[in-house]
Amino acid sequence: MTQKIFDFIRKEQPQTPCLVLDLDVVRERYDALTGALPLAAVHYAVKANPAPEVVSVLRDKGAKFDVASPAEVDLCIGLGITPDRISYGNTIKKARDIRHAFERGIDLFVFDSEAELIKIAQAAPGARVICRILVSNKGADWPLSRKFGCSKEMAFDLLCKARELGLVPTGVTFHVGSQQKNVEAWDSAVELSADLFRQLEAVGIELSTINLGGGLPAKYSEDVSEIGEYAFAVMSSMTRHFGNFLPHMMIEPGRFLVGDAGIIHAEIVLVSKKAYDDDARWVYLDIGRFNGLAETEGEAIKYPIGTDLGSGANDNVPKGPVILAGPSCDSVDILYQETKYQLPLSLKEGDTVQLHAAGAYTTAYSSAGFNGIAPLAAHYI
Ligand SMILES: *Cc1c(COP(=O)(O)O)cnc(C)c1O
Repeated sequence: MTQKIFDFIRKEQPQTPCLVLDLDVVRERYDALTGALPLAAVHYAVKANPAPEVVSVLRDKGAKFDVASPAEVDLCIGLGITPDRISYGNTIKKARDIRHAFERGIDLFVFDSEAELIKIAQAAPGARVICRILVSNKGADWPLSRKFGCSKEMAFDLLCKARELGLVPTGVTFHVGSQQKNVEAWDSAVELSADLFRQLEAVGIELSTINLGGGLPAKYSEDVSEIGEYAFAVMSSMTRHFGNFLPHMMIEPGRFLVGDAGIIHAEIVLVSKKAYDDDARWVYLDIGRFNGLAETEGEAIKYPIGTDLGSGANDNVPKGPVILAGPSCDSVDILYQETKYQLPLSLKEGDTVQLHAAGAYTTAYSSAGFNGIAPLAAHYI
């Protein structure tokens, strides 16, 4: 936790649960990424945290943006981001949503099927299109495989078809899976993309762009490699598979830019046991699966959890195993039971806890009011 967040919580005593996000960390992450990968245009995946404060900080840094819906289009345009800085990466769009974006000047769209391509040709005539290919998501804690992307053979045919339809076949994209912990995960996808570039060149179609997608990690309970190692692996793959003439590169980080920037400040509602001889205590928080912690599904994302505001005060107090659960009346709302968390034995209702690295995929995933529980509040500082 940063000093700024620590001071904010101490001074403001914000009502729990809430996300407190330090915008300086977002700025630092952006600088670290552009420093490590200077050739890639950074398109922030807005869905990771669509707060206007976050988007504005990245706008001022000169970032570009990847959007997935008319609301995200309007958010970016409303904040003064010009349409040439916006790509529309969702492969599943209504025709009227494509038109909405196109009418506002956005002319870069991703697709992975013939039906979508035809929609784009009709709703955004002459636009640039990028085809998403299916790639392995091995090594990712939050995989995005199967739902998106098509085979290389299909991508070839569709990019040819794009030209016939009057669109501009522009490039290839993929997503290696979110929270990707293997720095080499991009290699086979870059190789596949380079193959496609060559095959299409042979029939007179020159692609200009490779979009490396998202996948760069935040730091949760397990260690992850530094951004420099990812960048090195990606650039090695690029030169290995494309040679000296590198295409224009895009990258679409979400989690990496905002994850580590925020913590969720929450409160313990109840500590209990189900039987006298139970080993683990049940600790119920005022934050759960439905008001921000959707990514605890399958215990996929493991937030580091602290009880002393990061002060170190509880480092040496006696601890014991806990099962962590949220406040709602749904038994799916158990955060961690397989993952072994240890928390102080002295823990009691009213104590606060902090979930670290919670800046990505939390506020936006929070439900509208399940069980009357309000959407996750947030403070951007
Ligand atoms: C969600 C998403 C991203 C961001 O993924 P991260 O793993 O958070 O970096 C990038 N591109 C697309 C198309 C996405 O849907």
